[in-house]
Order: sequence, then structure tokens, then C-alpha cells
Amino acid sequence: MQKLKSLTLWVDMHGCPNRCLHCWLGHGPGGGMDEGDLRRAAGAFRPFAEEFEIVSHYREPDYAENYRALWDLEAALSDKKMPHAELMSVWRAARDPDYVPWLRRLGLKACQLTLFGGEAMTDRYTGRKGAYRDILRGIELLLENDIQPRLQAFVNQETIAEMHLVEELLRTYNIEHAFAHQGSCTGAAAELYDVWPTPETLERMPPLLTALSLKHWKAKSLRKVFGETEQALYKKLAHSKSTHSFVTDTPYIFVDHKWDVYPNNGGPFPHWRLGNLKRDGARAIMERYFNERSPAQAARRSVPLGGMVRACGDPDSRKLFVQSDYEDYILEKYCEREISL
Ligand code: SF4
Repeated sequence: MQKLKSLTLWVDMHGCPNRCLHCWLGHGPGGGMDEGDLRRAAGAFRPFAEEFEIVSHYREPDYAENYRALWDLEAALSDKKMPHAELMSVWRAARDPDYVPWLRRLGLKACQLTLFGGEAMTDRYTGRKGAYRDILRGIELLLENDIQPRLQAFVNQETIAEMHLVEELLRTYNIEHAFAHQGSCTGAAAELYDVWPTPETLERMPPLLTALSLKHWKAKSLRKVFGETEQALYKKLAHSKSTHSFVTDTPYIFVDHKWDVYPNNGGPFPHWRLGNLKRDGARAIMERYFNERSPAQAARRSVPLGGMVRACGDPDSRKLFVQSDYEDYILEKYCEREISL
């Protein structure tokens, strides 16, 4: 079997305290794995790549009680170790006084936090009461530790009503880096399709958040950031004959808490499943990856995009999508409708 140039394995050892409505990973349960499990996953996949890296989470980082030990173990089991992502466990930051100083010692210079509007809206969209207060505490701790907070705001027909509250927060804490977008309409976020933003939604964006978003995305207009209407994309793609292979020699692969394995082109959903590490072993799973045997890989490889768009798109919709996100949305919808597992 060919050897990969690099492989990054993400293991859902401890799940997530949140149930965000925009979560592209969906809300499956996670957790219950121990350090021995991380060693076993690394040992199984390491032979298939020249350069191997393992990460102990793919949901909220550092949510595990033993996050420091896991960070060190990841380094010991990996050929290279990426710097800490500019993300943190807001849940932990608000409860563990050693956590943000630890991030600082790791060299973190900036960190992203997610808002949906004011307190009630953010709690509801994060799926956890108290999330907004934790975010405020997180901002304060980042500033105290000389780490720049960067705010991400998810915009749709519902949250747009409270984007001015995100602006108020930017002013209160003098935060200079923020951006808005709609995210991808896959996983749990597919349920938000009915309130997905339209051109009319963007007309209601407040000025400061607009200006900071344009700066962040290096874009001249919000339409460049939020993309085209589904109507326009449908017209453009309805007769596309394109197919696509997701196989690369530098893949990222997910392992969930039940040892099911997925390529991370999509979320950890049945139609992306490559197999179960305990039952099938890593060799059979890698063979399925290379041969595009997960149902979603096989569909995108063999069904022309235009056919999927005609089966699952809406030619009259004014919802806004970046084209690559629309293709992902259509593939997920196609798999859910057409593939019985
Ligand atoms: S978006 Fe991130 S923090 Fe929210 S539920 Fe999904 S994994 Fe957890």
C-alpha cells in the first residue's frame, strides 16, 4: 500500500461541553477514552505515513481535565507538533485559573471566540446556559494574559437582529479583530437552512462589524464574503459534470469515541464512515480511504455535481453560499436522501 506523505489523526477523546446550532460536526456523543486509547490509535495508523501527528480532540480543544498531559502525550506520539490552534475551551477558561496562563506560556498570541448576538441568543446558539458569561470571562482573561481576542460572529436571518450587540462588545473591550460569516450549512447547521442569510440580511449588518469583517476577509463587499444566492449557484452548477476525489497524500482523519473512522472532508456521519478501528484494523480502513469506499467519497467520485444539485438544490432560493460550501451542503443532502445505510 502507498505510504502517505503525512497523516494527522484527530481523536474525539472527550467530546464537547457545547451543542452549537452551527456545529458542522453534528452533536454526536463523545468522550470516555483514555491515554492508552490515544497510544493505541497512534500505533495503529503511524505505519501508514512518513510524517505522523495525533491530536486528542476534534471538538472543543482542552476540554479534558488532563489537557496538559494530553498536550505532552500528543507531542510524544507525533513526528511534528503543530503550535496550539488560536482556539480555546471557553468552558475551561472560566473554571480553571491555570488554563489561560498555560496558553500564554505555549506562545498563543491570538484566540478566537464565537458569538451569535447578546446573552440569550448566544446561550441558545451555543447550546449551553452560561456560555455567554463564560465568553465574557474568556475575553477578560485573554486580555489580562496579553492574548488578542478575535471575535467570530455567525450571521443568519435570526442572529442579524443582535449583531449590534456584538458591536457593543467590540467597543466595550476595545477589540480590533472580528469577523462575520454564515459558516457551512452541514452537520447540525443544516437545520438552520430556513434562516440562512439572504442579500436582505446583509443590508442589516452594523457598520463596525462590516468594516472589521471586510478587513479580516480582505474583501471589498459583504457579498464577496457571503457568496452568491442559491438561485445563481443552482443555475451555474445544475449541468456540471464535475466529479471529485477527496483522496490526498496529506489527509486528516477523525476517530470517534466508538473507534469509527472518517476522512475529515465531512463530519463524523455514517455516510463518511471508513470502518471501525477495533473491528477492521487500520490497514483495511486506509484501503477504503484510498479506494474511496465511504459512501460520501464514492458518491462525489461517481455522481456528477449537476445531478446532485438538481436532486437537492432549490432553484428559487435566495440563501447565500460560498460555492465550495454549497457543494458540501449539496453532497451532504444528497447522501442523506439517496444513501441508505
Ligand atoms: S462548534 Fe465546536 S464548540 Fe460548538 S458544539 Fe461543535 S465542536 Fe463543540
